[in-house]
Amino acid sequence: MLNESRLDLDQALDAILADARPASGEERVAVAAALGRVLARSIDAPVSLPPFAASAMDGYALRRGDVDGEPPYRLRLAGTSYAGHPVDAPTPPGSCVRIFTGAPVPADLDTVVIQENCAVEGDRIRIDVRVAAGDNIRPVGHDIAAGQRLLDRGRRLNAFDVGWLAACGIAHVDVHTRPVVGLFSTGDELIDAGTAPRPGQIFDSNRRTLISLLAPLPVAVKDYGIVPDRRERIRDVLEQADAECDVVLTTGGVSVGDADWVKDVVSEIGRLRIWKLNIKPGKPLAYGRLSRAAFFGLPGNPVSTIVTALMLALPAIERVCGTEPSPPLTVPATLRGAIRHQPGREEFQRGRLSAGDDGLQVAATGDQSSNRLASFADANCLIRIPKDCGDVADGSRVRVLPFRGLI
Ligand code: AMP
Ligand code: MG
Repeated sequence: MLNESRLDLDQALDAILADARPASGEERVAVAAALGRVLARSIDAPVSLPPFAASAMDGYALRRGDVDGEPPYRLRLAGTSYAGHPVDAPTPPGSCVRIFTGAPVPADLDTVVIQENCAVEGDRIRIDVRVAAGDNIRPVGHDIAAGQRLLDRGRRLNAFDVGWLAACGIAHVDVHTRPVVGLFSTGDELIDAGTAPRPGQIFDSNRRTLISLLAPLPVAVKDYGIVPDRRERIRDVLEQADAECDVVLTTGGVSVGDADWVKDVVSEIGRLRIWKLNIKPGKPLAYGRLSRAAFFGLPGNPVSTIVTALMLALPAIERVCGTEPSPPLTVPATLRGAIRHQPGREEFQRGRLSAGDDGLQVAATGDQSSNRLASFADANCLIRIPKDCGDVADGSRVRVLPFRGLI
C-alpha cells in the first residue's frame, strides 16, 4: 500500500491517475456517432474554411480601385452572387456585383459594402461610405487553413468539435475503443427495485447512480448486480470482472466491519494501493489493481459513493478512455449560513449555488449525513472545506465546485 495512513484527496488522485493507462484499441466511427468519443489520432484540416473568399454580409462587391475620392460613388450592376451560385463572368471596370452572405466574392473584386450604405439609382448603385479593401470578406482559410491542426488526439469530442469536423467534410474519425467498466454492489441487505423487501433489506441505489454517472463517458458498462457479503462470492465476481473489464467499481464492504471482505479479496487477487482517504464523506475508499484491471472499492454510503466517484473514479476512467481529465472548475462564493467543521479532513458538502447582485452565493443543503441522498436533491455544487479549516462563518468566502464542471 502507498501509505497506511490516510491520504489526502489530491495525493490519492495523483497516485491513481499515475496508475491509469489508456486502454489500447482504436476503431473508425462515423462522425455522426462520434459525440463523446476520444480521438485516437490527431486530425489536420483536409480543406480550408471557408474554401473560397466569401461575403460576410448582404451588399455589393466591388473593386476598391474603382471608388477613389470622396463618396458617394456610383457603379454599374454587373450581376448577382448568391450563396451556392457564384458569378462566373468577369466584372467590367466600374461595375459591382449584388452579393449575399456566404456567396463567393468574384475573383476580380476585393471589397464588399453592406447594403445599408448603398442605394439603387436606376441602373446604378450609389455607395455612400468610404471603403477599405477586404471589407466584409471572409478570406480563404479565415476559419482554418488546409493542413492546420484541427483537433488533437486525446480530445473527447463535444458538439462543437463534431460541427467542426462536419464543416471540413470529414465523415469518419479514428477513436479509442470503449474501455469496459464493470461494477457491482456488495451487501446482504441490498435488493433491486421490483423485489419486495424483507425486514432489514433496502434498495440498491449506488449501482444506478454509478451507471448514470458513467453514461456520458465513452465506456461500455458491465453490471454484475448485487453480490452478497460472502468472501467466496466476492472473489468469484471480482475474478470474472478482472478478466472482462479495464476498470472495476464496487460499492460497500470496504470499511472495517466483519462483513467487509472486498479489500481482503483484492489483496489476494492483486494489490491494494490505497485504503482510507482523508476526506468527508468517503473515508473508506480502496484503490488498487486486480491481476489486470484497475479497482475502486467505493464506500457503501450513497453520498460517499457519489463524492468518491466524482473526485477519483471518473477522472481515472477518463484517462483510461484516452483523454485527460480536466481538474474540476472551482469558483469562489459567499457562504450563506454557517458550516460546522472540525480540522482534520477535507470535506465536500452539497450546496445550492446562485447568482445574486453581490456575486455568487452558496448554502449547504441541510443535513449532510453520508447516507442522505436528499442532500443532492436541491444541490448544484459541492462546497469544498479545506482540511485544516475550522467552523466556517456565515458570509465567509468558500470555494465551490459546480456540478456542471464535474459531471
Ligand atoms: P458498507 O460500506 O457496506 O458498510 O455500507 C455502508 C452503508 O451504506 C450501509 O448503511 C449500507 O446499507 C449502505 N449501502 C451500501 N451499499 C449500498 C447500495 N448499493 N445502495 C444503498 N445503500 C448502500
Ligand atoms: Mg456492506
